Amino acid sequence: MEKKYNMKKYKHIFFDLDRTIWDFDENSKETLREIYNKYQLSNHFIDFIQFCNTYHANNDKLWTEYREGKLKKEVLISLRFYNTLLEVNVKNQKLAHLIGNDYVKISPTKKNVFPYTYGALNYLKEKKYKLYIITNGFNEVQFVKMKNCNLNTYFSRVITGENAGSYKPNSKIFHFALSSVHAKKSESIMIGDDLEVDIQGASDAGIDQVYFNPDNIPHNGEITFEISSLKELMEIF
Ligand SMILES: [Mg+2]
Repeated sequence: MEKKYNMKKYKHIFFDLDRTIWDFDENSKETLREIYNKYQLSNHFIDFIQFCNTYHANNDKLWTEYREGKLKKEVLISLRFYNTLLEVNVKNQKLAHLIGNDYVKISPTKKNVFPYTYGALNYLKEKKYKLYIITNGFNEVQFVKMKNCNLNTYFSRVITGENAGSYKPNSKIFHFALSSVHAKKSESIMIGDDLEVDIQGASDAGIDQVYFNPDNIPHNGEITFEISSLKELMEIF
């Protein structure tokens, strides 16, 4: 790839964690499989796929509310399973609570990351870029994930929505991130998989962006860079 930008202008690289580095979908699937077996959910769902799809639809809906401050974390954790079970006519708060806690405990122990994660991070570190995480995920989950995947050593700061008091795509979290690591926005770039949350959010805050689009989903967004593999970070930086 031709280096059409002066990449020397960037000093600070902010990464999203879930679905950008940490393979959220694969890790979530493994976790849900364990839960499905443990609680014998085949008694209620047609199959594992139906359980997963139902869960993801409910989770996505509730996450949007959580991000906007309309829902407390403790409520989200079990309500996403309560609503999932409700769709197959199981009205069981206790079960939803147990499953919800299991999910938060099990999922961060999963270690699937996207291909070239470590290669790209080593490369960027060697090139003396300052690396950070900006994530909307829960504190107790995100820090465990990072530790389990040996990601801690690469990132000098992890900015979470909970600590920032606001969530991507709100500009506040990006400004909080910049000021907490003393970074100028002109020297910063955000890498993420979500067009609204990461890319539009960074753009609104005046920060350049790298859109990680592994499935090459078509879009009309105006983005500084787009990659389909983390390997490309070693070409553009
Ligand atoms: Mg993401």
